[in-house]
Amino acid sequence: MNAWNSRRHPRARERAAIPALAMLAAVALLQSVRAETLAPGEFEVETTSPGVYVHYGNQEEMTPANAGDIANLGFVVGERCVAVIDTGGTYAVGSALHRAIRRVTALPVCYVINTHVHPDHIFGNAAFVEDAPQFVGHVRLAESMRRRGPNYLSALFRDLGAAAQGTTLVVPTLAVANVERLELGGRRLSLRAWPTAHTDTDLTVLDEQTGTLWLGDLLFVEHIPVVDGSLRGFLAVIDELKTLPARRAIPGHGRAGAWPAAIAPEEAYLKRLRADVRAAVRAGIPISKAVETIDCDTAERWQLVDRFHKRNVTAAYVELEWEQ
Ligand SMILES: [Zn+2]
Repeated sequence: MNAWNSRRHPRARERAAIPALAMLAAVALLQSVRAETLAPGEFEVETTSPGVYVHYGNQEEMTPANAGDIANLGFVVGERCVAVIDTGGTYAVGSALHRAIRRVTALPVCYVINTHVHPDHIFGNAAFVEDAPQFVGHVRLAESMRRRGPNYLSALFRDLGAAAQGTTLVVPTLAVANVERLELGGRRLSLRAWPTAHTDTDLTVLDEQTGTLWLGDLLFVEHIPVVDGSLRGFLAVIDELKTLPARRAIPGHGRAGAWPAAIAPEEAYLKRLRADVRAAVRAGIPISKAVETIDCDTAERWQLVDRFHKRNVTAAYVELEWEQ
């Protein structure tokens, strides 16, 4: 649904105005009481190309110590305004990103783009509400955030405690159904919404000027790839991604690299996963045994294998066992 595209649906903007004001008040209140969990000096951004800044998240699960700073985030600076791409796992991380932007430029933040629904990419949004940007996401993102958000939030506060303070759900005001171009003043971003792959809300952002492609979790580097959408869809989307006119890729996790070479290890992992699971299904091996016996043959090159490989096998098995 794209009821959240306020440009096409003026009434949606009116409906969204009340929750936005309430959010603003809540944020202001929480700002005054929240603990400072990330000191300004701890949050580094690097320039990968002129006007393109990336913060590399820790290659860890979310903990109180990292305050949800586990995904790559960043921003692109035009002549008129700034676009933020992903905001981190908590309000504290979003605030640290906000301060990092202010060290670089005083231009307004006009867009906050979320690459997909996962909590480590969306929960810093609240730190940008006062800038009154357009919050931008895949056409399915608002619905997905509403569906998953309450559970994500309760898990976040349970696991992170005080480090989660101020974190709220802020849904998109601008929905991307296919391709959308955002103008930053002398600089354009080309956004594209993808069919189900890593999740069912994946969105890429191409900075046309520098050929920098932000892939969110359609690209994992070092961090083992994770399938929360469709394995077959993921591989089909990778085939198309490789044809995009980009020179440099910024993954959701791990270091930036040359495009399309950066996606080769992920593609090889996912193809091997598909082959191994298909073989298990055809051999009549039950899912419980497949999860125990299908190893990650490239484990030495990935981080967080123990956390995600068995989950990937489970997801792949459930998807592939109904293949014709
Ligand atoms: Zn993700």
